[in-house]
Amino acid sequence: MLNESEADWFHLDVMDGRFVPNISFGLPFVSQLRKATTKSFDVHLMIEEPEKYAEAFKNAGADRLTVHYEACRNLHRNIQQIKSLGMKAGVAINPHTRVELLGDIVCDVDQILIMSVNPGFGGQHFIDHTYQKIRELKKMLHDCGLNVLIEIDGGVTLENASAIIHAGANVLVAGNTVFSSPDPKKIISQLKNA
Ligand code: ZN
Repeated sequence: MLNESEADWFHLDVMDGRFVPNISFGLPFVSQLRKATTKSFDVHLMIEEPEKYAEAFKNAGADRLTVHYEACRNLHRNIQQIKSLGMKAGVAINPHTRVELLGDIVCDVDQILIMSVNPGFGGQHFIDHTYQKIRELKKMLHDCGLNVLIEIDGGVTLENASAIIHAGANVLVAGNTVFSSPDPKKIISQLKNA
C-alpha cells in the first residue's frame, strides 16, 4: 500500500527502551523491510550510543539516519560518521530542547527533526509550542544561508498539517493519522497536498 502511495519516505522509529521508555524494532526488521520497497528509508534512532549502530543501519538499508541531540556526547563526530558512511545525516530534538542549542551543528546536517510529542509512543497530541520552534529554526537556517530540511514528528494530522508547513516545515512524519485511517493512501495524498 505504501509503495503505491504518494509517501516519499518510510520513516522508521527505532526505540531501545533506554533513551525512550519503549522498545520498537531493530536491524532485522529494517533489513527485511528493505526487500519490500525501493522508497527511501528515513531511520530515526531513539537510542543511546547511536555511534555503535550507524554502520549496521547503513548495511540494513538506511538512506537517512537521525540521532538525538540528547543522546549524543559527541554529536559532531556522530554526524560526520553518518555522512562518511554515505547516508544523509539528521539531528533530532525533544520537546524540552531549545532550537538555539543547534547553532553549532546546523551547517553539518541534512535535516533537523523537531519532536512535536515526547518520543516513545504513537498516537500523542501535537505540542503547540512546536510552531514557535519551527519558526526559530527556519530563521536560524535562513540567517546562515543553509538549505536543511525541517522535519516534524508526532501528532501530525490533516487538521494541523498545513499550519506546520506554513510555519516552515519541509517533512511531515505521520503514523497514527495514516495507519488508523480506513483509507491510508487517501490520507497520505491529502497530507501531501495540505
Ligand atoms: Zn520518528
